[in-house]
Amino acid sequence: MSTRIRTRFAPSPTGFIHLGNIRSALYPWAFARANGGDFILRIEDTDQERSTQAAVDVILEAMAWLGLTPDEGPYYQMQRMARYKQVIGEMLQAGLAYHCYMTPAELEALRERQMAAKLKPRYDGTWRPEPGKTLPPIPEGVQPVIRFRNPTHGSVVWDDKVKGRVEIRNDELDDLVIARQAPLGDIGTPTYNFCVVVDDIDMRITHVIRGDDHVNNTPRQINIIRALGHEPPVYAHLPTVLNEQGEKMSKRHGAKPVTWYRDAGFLPDAMINYLARLGWSHGDDEIFTREQFLQWFDLDHLGRSAAQFDEAKLRWVNAQH
Ligand code: GLU
Repeated sequence: MSTRIRTRFAPSPTGFIHLGNIRSALYPWAFARANGGDFILRIEDTDQERSTQAAVDVILEAMAWLGLTPDEGPYYQMQRMARYKQVIGEMLQAGLAYHCYMTPAELEALRERQMAAKLKPRYDGTWRPEPGKTLPPIPEGVQPVIRFRNPTHGSVVWDDKVKGRVEIRNDELDDLVIARQAPLGDIGTPTYNFCVVVDDIDMRITHVIRGDDHVNNTPRQINIIRALGHEPPVYAHLPTVLNEQGEKMSKRHGAKPVTWYRDAGFLPDAMINYLARLGWSHGDDEIFTREQFLQWFDLDHLGRSAAQFDEAKLRWVNAQH
């Protein structure tokens, strides 16, 4: 029996969702629909200072307007903290993670020494337990973080649906901090990369389709997934969407919220058509219906280079619908 396809859209509600962001919902939605699978919505609200309910509302409204209906969710990471901590507790027990008492000041000093020696700054494993190694005495008044014991040999390799084969040597990866500082015995706030891993496992995600600004997180995430005894999903890292000035589309550079297009009278199917073409192609077809898109969509024809937004083109596509 083949595994049921499960994809997700995992936005951080730290600004109003724009067209570049929603394209990262369109492809996983289409891939799940095209394959009779499930599409999951997960709100990554762990950055409490920058996350707002207003931004969540715009995500939900934009998805409803475009008909990108999730089969499950929204799940909220802030509501899953107990679960992340439970997994960290199990990892400590199993020796997959350890307490590290290096203070931020010591880390900074280490970084400076490494930079001066023209080395890549990285944690040096001082607190990593090894057979036969004596750890330094625990300093007084320092609360530990918890780090993942990253493998030190070999490489992480994955066949990215957009980038092709990617290989990263394990000795280039740090022992990732998975829980922030807390008194020994407590588990501090889990870090973002760790929450994503636990979610992708628990939500049985088979295909992670996301922006390529996350590609550096992927080898670390794959190592944790494997350490927890699971197989990593298939990854497709989408190139950036550029604005009309050729900069990365962002709120800071004046990108409009998706709902602006709704209020300006654009048609949802035209938006789907336009956004679909902004990073995926089906021969020379420029204009297609939602149904055709769902029939045709695959991960093998995702574009490899950044796509540029063009409002005149969007208006033209809109006029064809
Ligand atoms: N929350 C991340 C973002 O909004 C996405 C992370 C992911 O898809 O793994 O960029």
